[in-house]
Amino acid sequence: MDIGGRQIPTGPIPCQYCGKELFGRTDKKFCNDTCRNRYHARSTKRRQWGEPPYVGKITRQLQRNRRLLQNAIPYTSETAIVTRNQLAEQGFDFRFYTNILETKKGTYHYSYEYGWLQIEPNKVLVVRTNIYDDFTFAS
Ligand SMILES: [Zn+2]
Repeated sequence: MDIGGRQIPTGPIPCQYCGKELFGRTDKKFCNDTCRNRYHARSTKRRQWGEPPYVGKITRQLQRNRRLLQNAIPYTSETAIVTRNQLAEQGFDFRFYTNILETKKGTYHYSYEYGWLQIEPNKVLVVRTNIYDDFTFAS
């Protein structure tokens, strides 16, 4: 039912926090400010506790990227040149990296200590950095 542009509920509306029946204005959602504040505090906590599923997926993708770059470099070498397709076919995802380094040669994209630099349209140089060896991390 619609009277004067305002929705009239067909039955009693419960408070969204405590579930008690609401009286008065039809657009009320809570009994009072206490219920309103508790409701918002609870939903904020839920957001902080429950990580969305892509957080874990991105972490795993970064670790996979790192492993694929690591595997691309032969034991006898410091660097390697591979095609983007070779990496992509193994499950490398170029969208994700932990940090970048801008140089005159171009932008290195790192997954942890392993990185790649675009050198030709389909070729990348794979490198390893040791800058993290001496890093101090917030514990
Ligand atoms: Zn209430």
